[in-house]
Amino acid sequence: MANDASTVFDLVILGGGSGGYAAALRGAQLGLDVALIEKDKVGGTCLHRGCIPTKALLHAGEIADQARESEQFGVKATFEGIDVAAVHKYKDGVISGLYKGLQGLIASRKVTYIEGEGRLSSPTSVDVNGQRVQGRHVLLATGSVPKSLPGLEIDGNRIISSDHALVLDRVPKSAIVLGGGVIGVEFASAWKSFGSDITVIEGLKHLVPVEDENSSKLLERAFRKRGIKFNLGTFFSKAEYTADGVKVTLADGKEFEAEILLVAVGRGPVSAGLGYEEQGVAMDRGYVLVDEYMRTNVPTISAVGDLVPTLQLAHVGFAEGILVAERLAGLKTVPIDYDGVPRVTYCHPEVASVGITEAKAKEIYGADKVVALKYNLAGNGKSKILNTSGEIKLVQVKDGAVVGVHMVGDRMGEQVGEAQLIYNWEALPAEVAQLIHAHPTQNEAMGEAHLALAGKPLHSHD
Ligand SMILES: Cc1cc2nc3c(=O)[nH]c(=O)nc-3n(C[C@H](O)[C@H](O)[C@H](O)COP(=O)(O)OP(=O)(O)OC[C@H]3O[C@@H](n4cnc5c(N)ncnc54)[C@H](O)[C@@H]3O)c2cc1C
Repeated sequence: MANDASTVFDLVILGGGSGGYAAALRGAQLGLDVALIEKDKVGGTCLHRGCIPTKALLHAGEIADQARESEQFGVKATFEGIDVAAVHKYKDGVISGLYKGLQGLIASRKVTYIEGEGRLSSPTSVDVNGQRVQGRHVLLATGSVPKSLPGLEIDGNRIISSDHALVLDRVPKSAIVLGGGVIGVEFASAWKSFGSDITVIEGLKHLVPVEDENSSKLLERAFRKRGIKFNLGTFFSKAEYTADGVKVTLADGKEFEAEILLVAVGRGPVSAGLGYEEQGVAMDRGYVLVDEYMRTNVPTISAVGDLVPTLQLAHVGFAEGILVAERLAGLKTVPIDYDGVPRVTYCHPEVASVGITEAKAKEIYGADKVVALKYNLAGNGKSKILNTSGEIKLVQVKDGAVVGVHMVGDRMGEQVGEAQLIYNWEALPAEVAQLIHAHPTQNEAMGEAHLALAGKPLHSHD
């Protein structure tokens, strides 16, 4: 949709990913006149190259595993292999349905959508398609792209990023996954389910290193059982092509070979050459710096999502975008408590958490003021039925609120909703213990863990 050159929008948004489009939808809902500028497809990384496609691949992998393991449930099914084209068709069908829905929402909320590559041209305008789009306020939401390491060139063929991995036309016979964070372990998990031979290389001490150490250890145990290999605690040194693949050498000289190398070492902000610095926006290593209300140092410019140095999660982008829209519309807003944001890694088994780790709680409150309790899913009927194992670990300030919930087990991501209420409402274990949890559900494990922490364990061994 074109806009009249004399129009001054209330809000001009650069980038239509999770952060940008959430601000557009909420802003329009609150009566702001909004322009949304996007160079590719509204929905951004999450919808087209991130959350949604990866979860579709993981679900296809789950079905493959279930076919392989069906006999233990008394069902006769055989796993014959992965039809990669059909997996992509399924994945792309999910994306296109959501994409259409989102385009419909943008249109129905009367957001002025401008397709094109924009550049910040003043503190109150963005230039796009040779036109100047003026606003009372500008929101920067240009997101992030995959990063690599010095000297490691992503060729899109044998050395690939998550963007390439999502459209790969085959199941690799073998893959090295460089990086044991969320994106790395999700691909490792999906590809293993598809039948690849996987090795994860993580320079830090553990897989999913920002999680509570207990969750990392449980995931490592589960990956070992699944035959996913990993090398921890040594950093990457170099990658070279071999006759038919890639060889990776680590700093200690150890070598690994595989058909492909997936580089999953994190994502960097998209900010270079977009006029941010020229307009005086304070930045750090490419990230736009903001205060707790997502305001940059330039009064007419805000920034959200992966472009700012907060958690790189779609729902964080949504929340930050909504916060900006509400602030500009004159509503009272409160800063986001980033510890209270639920985090889920959708590998098999899933890792989910909210609040702080036991180590961080001890740093903040002192070691003698922190209580930790682990509830083993072995005591949970539904988990037994699903044949999944894992734990819910609770971190509590002694005689006080639960400040961390850390879970590992299939489908535990679905439990993070209650966990976040517990954390964010500063619930006491006894208060949660009083709530009745349905039997038999995995959610019951949340109740049982709190019963145990409140000193009245039911289905758990003392
Ligand atoms: C493989 C993978 C899996 C993920 N899984 C999850 C998950 O399960 N859960 C979760 O919460 N998060 C997940 N994420 C993270 C999530 O995708 C991001 O946190 C989220 O997309 C960030 O939103 P954003 O709006 O900041 O940026 P983006 O989604 O990157 O959107 C930025 C948009 O800006 C546009 N743009 C950039 N420059 C310009 C310009 N100059 N002019 C016009 N438009 C421009 C881009 O085209 C893009 O559409 C995953 C990410 C990846 C890569």
